[in-house]
Amino acid sequence: MVATKFSEEEIVDYSALIATFIRGQRDAYMEQATLLPDSQIEKFSSFFNPGLLKNTFFFVKKDGPIEDPVFLKELNDRGIYFSLDHLRAITFIDVVVSYEELKPQVQFHELVHVVQYQKLGLKQFAHKYLRGFLTIGAYESIPLEKNAYALDRAYFQNPEKPFSVEQEVQNWINGNKF
Ligand SMILES: [Zn+2]
Repeated sequence: MVATKFSEEEIVDYSALIATFIRGQRDAYMEQATLLPDSQIEKFSSFFNPGLLKNTFFFVKKDGPIEDPVFLKELNDRGIYFSLDHLRAITFIDVVVSYEELKPQVQFHELVHVVQYQKLGLKQFAHKYLRGFLTIGAYESIPLEKNAYALDRAYFQNPEKPFSVEQEVQNWINGNKF
């Protein structure tokens, strides 16, 4: 199915719905979530600021995937196929929800999203995520995802070689790549 065109106004409206959903999920899962163990914080400390690592929460949701919100079903009907149950993990600002225990590479990926949220703010993150999806029509091609995948791959290929995720994300912002 080919995606229908979205007006600027619709994109703004859907971005606001997405942002509200993200905020709600973050608040709902925050209480049950836990921080990374010190050993893992240590391993990631050559890539992320310690403050970020010590303030990001993780929650393994064992009773099934998060239900898709109504607006997502509307988007599906218009040819935008995106469902929360297909993801291994979802980052809601500073709370990472997953359906299984995450490998370090996936944790790393989600932490990149935390940096993106911090730098862009929730509204911009939601807007750029949706716009990326609508422009290219595939989850993997959303620039915010491409950035996170590129960095988690770099980490996976050489976990001993430090780089600053914050700087990398900033480079993408400066280059207007999101
Ligand atoms: Zn991602």
